[in-house]
Amino acid sequence: MQIEPQAFDRVLSSMCTDPHPAARDAAEQFLATNPGDPGTYPNVAALEDDAIALLGEIAGLDDPAGYITSGGTEANIQAVRIARERADTRSPNVVMPESGHFSFRKAADLLGVELRVVPTDDRHRVDLEAVRASVDDDTALVIGVAGTTEYGRVDPIPELGEIAHAAGAMLHVDAAWGGFVLPFTDHEWHFGHAAVDTMAIDPHKMGQAAVPAGGLLVRSPALLDELAVDTPYLESTSQATLTGTRSGAGVASAVAAMEALWPEGYRSQYVRSQNNATWLADALEKRGYRVVDPVLPLVAADVPRSTFDALRGAGWRISRTATGELRIVCMPHVSREMLASFIGDLDRLEVRASVPVASDD
Ligand code: PLP
Repeated sequence: MQIEPQAFDRVLSSMCTDPHPAARDAAEQFLATNPGDPGTYPNVAALEDDAIALLGEIAGLDDPAGYITSGGTEANIQAVRIARERADTRSPNVVMPESGHFSFRKAADLLGVELRVVPTDDRHRVDLEAVRASVDDDTALVIGVAGTTEYGRVDPIPELGEIAHAAGAMLHVDAAWGGFVLPFTDHEWHFGHAAVDTMAIDPHKMGQAAVPAGGLLVRSPALLDELAVDTPYLESTSQATLTGTRSGAGVASAVAAMEALWPEGYRSQYVRSQNNATWLADALEKRGYRVVDPVLPLVAADVPRSTFDALRGAGWRISRTATGELRIVCMPHVSREMLASFIGDLDRLEVRASVPVASDD
């Protein structure tokens, strides 16, 4: 094999990061284990209990239940599945803000539920009036996002819980990215703050675990029964996961990262990332770009397409929002030096992009 994995030194668009050293070691150690078969691999199965206990502590859940998924996508699909199974209707619908991750589109498609997408307000948070107008007797699930993929915004979760439960629906919080930074903010986002039924919270994003390590949490273990199928040829009797064979590396690295970093390591990482995001937002604003205020460590700014393309050409791994803004995620591997070098390239390349093209006459 000749190709090596790329370095993180120019990666500004990813929601994954360089794993914590302890998470890297644990992943390697448990590479050949399968928590999908706990009768054969009891050690990694016990580690998964530890992972869920730690995730529960982070997400304000007293009696935590759930499992380590392949990522936020699987956690979101499974949450929709639980709600669909619980709903007393033949034509269930799910209400989601337009800021919801595209994994919910996969869920709706796979599970045959109607997806009702409602707008966000001028602060990129879900419009509560639109949610109220969209729920009805067939609503199985209301979705709130705690740390949106494009702008890092947090929906009003307690209010969404009230609306959902008044309509007889469940509330799912997608904290896949935000779950490891929100504990150090004033936002109300978790099981202890609101009537949250299920949550996606991914160790392989801000949690600094190795991929694949997502997390599904449920308020009561009975909710997992909605997902369980019998497993005739295994020593365990049922399985609630979407995948069969799963990565023990993900489970072990999630535990190792959380044991090493929760809470103080994650707190200092949050402070560092948030300061970087504020610094970057200031630097972009000073240069005349319109910036979406970084509520969490994620910056979006209206940088012209030509400059964006020039920066990508210079090797920066950057991405754009649906409406075309430059989007930079201040993950743990994103240092101030990296951002300063990025701004240096922006200044250099933007000047070039705006040099008038010589005319022939
Ligand atoms: N939810 C949110 C808020 C995300 O930002 C993402 C990915 O960026 C996902 C879910 C999907 O997670 P994954 O790519 O791990 O499946």
